[in-house]
Amino acid sequence: MSEVSKVRTFPPSKESWGGDAAFDGTHRKGELRGIIKINQDNCVGCDTCTAFCPTEAIKGTLGVAHAISTNQCVACGQCLVNCPFGAIEQMSFVDIVMEKLADPKAFVVAHPSPAVRVSIAEEFGGKPGDLTVNRLYNAFEKAGFHNYDVNFAADQTILEEGTEFIKKVRYWVLGERGEDLEHVAHHPLPHFTSCCPAWVKNAETFHPELIPHISGAKSPIQMGGPLAKTWAAEFVWKKDPRDIYMVSVTPCTAKIFEASRPEFNSAYEYLKENNKIPQDTPSFQDIDAVLTARDAAEIFRRKGINPLTLPDEREMETMNVYTGAATIFGASGGVMEAALRTAYFILSGTELSNPDITLVRGYEQDIVEATIPVPLKALNGKVINVKVAVVNGASRNIKEIVKRLTDDKNQYHFVEVMNCPGGCVNGGGQPVRTMGTSWLHPLLPLPLRA
Ligand code: SF4
Ligand code: SF4
Ligand code: SF4
Repeated sequence: MSEVSKVRTFPPSKESWGGDAAFDGTHRKGELRGIIKINQDNCVGCDTCTAFCPTEAIKGTLGVAHAISTNQCVACGQCLVNCPFGAIEQMSFVDIVMEKLADPKAFVVAHPSPAVRVSIAEEFGGKPGDLTVNRLYNAFEKAGFHNYDVNFAADQTILEEGTEFIKKVRYWVLGERGEDLEHVAHHPLPHFTSCCPAWVKNAETFHPELIPHISGAKSPIQMGGPLAKTWAAEFVWKKDPRDIYMVSVTPCTAKIFEASRPEFNSAYEYLKENNKIPQDTPSFQDIDAVLTARDAAEIFRRKGINPLTLPDEREMETMNVYTGAATIFGASGGVMEAALRTAYFILSGTELSNPDITLVRGYEQDIVEATIPVPLKALNGKVINVKVAVVNGASRNIKEIVKRLTDDKNQYHFVEVMNCPGGCVNGGGQPVRTMGTSWLHPLLPLPLRA
């Protein structure tokens, strides 16, 4: 039986969204800030957290309470899950979502990520993986949510990301030109993944020279929000999109930040442009609230629900259909593997004989490199070697990748970066083990990290 610690939380305040200024330090108007904070009364100044911070955002000397620089923090929560004294707290939308669940007009949708279904069992005394997908859906339904699996949207992310990569290969490797390739002319290789908001914010703040390389594909959650409020609202749920309240349920604290970014209101923009909502409708975000796996467990507890005891049966629903490629997003190397399967198929015209490109899984190494030979349909089977890298836990490794790229810009075609060690399965919103140290502690030798 796993033991997990309770993490202290606090609700967002008016100040959390900032003031009216267009920019405030590294945040834009409307972006949530201060998502992770150190409680000065509980911090003993042990300095453990600084080893896990990817951006050196934590300040303080040994023995004195530490503090987080809001401008440097990318909200990944790695300090929180690794603080041995439970001194780090997380902004939480639990109270706000509970209010929405009590509102009869609101159509509240749970949008759970793959890594949540693996971990949430631990909050109820089970082992990771004990909870089946059907039980999780049934628990959300019992709590008053409608279900929309993030994996459905992850498949869209894979198609976007894979197609964009193929266009970059056509333009930058094969030298093709054409109207459909104009966009990628401004976005050179290597192609970087974009689905980890902590990594994106890290690049924006500390490595802006990499911005043109980052994929334009939205993360699965941000693909899902607009899809829910446009297509699903009209054709599946038959609801007024203004009544849909999208709650993403994630292993990730950085997604709390991502959901607040001003550009993620594309459903509103589309609906307004197409006169599907009144022109004077106030702007709304694609994702209205983000719950971590711990927050979702708290909602279940408040409603007296133990997901592990619910029936493991359920009818298949339109919004919960997905492929196996979507499921592996939660593990390091998973995004790369999923996108490469699509790219391989389109470039070569054939399915991979073995779709498990496990050599890119970055579970036990900080940086994984691999070369994937791809026969090109357009060049009568001529083989190109696609060189890829998976950065597993950006804490220390992103600087190394940037150095390698500076030394040789042609070193890679495709780079996946996930902030958390092992990927989202070890995200900052996951259940915290009682010892307060991550099972992938960067200071431990690799054989001890499992
Ligand atoms: S790990 Fe926790 S107790 Fe130690 S310095 Fe960081 S916040 Fe304070
Ligand atoms: S949340 Fe992440 S970036 Fe922010 S202080 Fe903690 S470890 Fe550093
Ligand atoms: S690796 Fe996953 S859990 Fe960690 S910050 Fe990125 S998206 Fe969030």
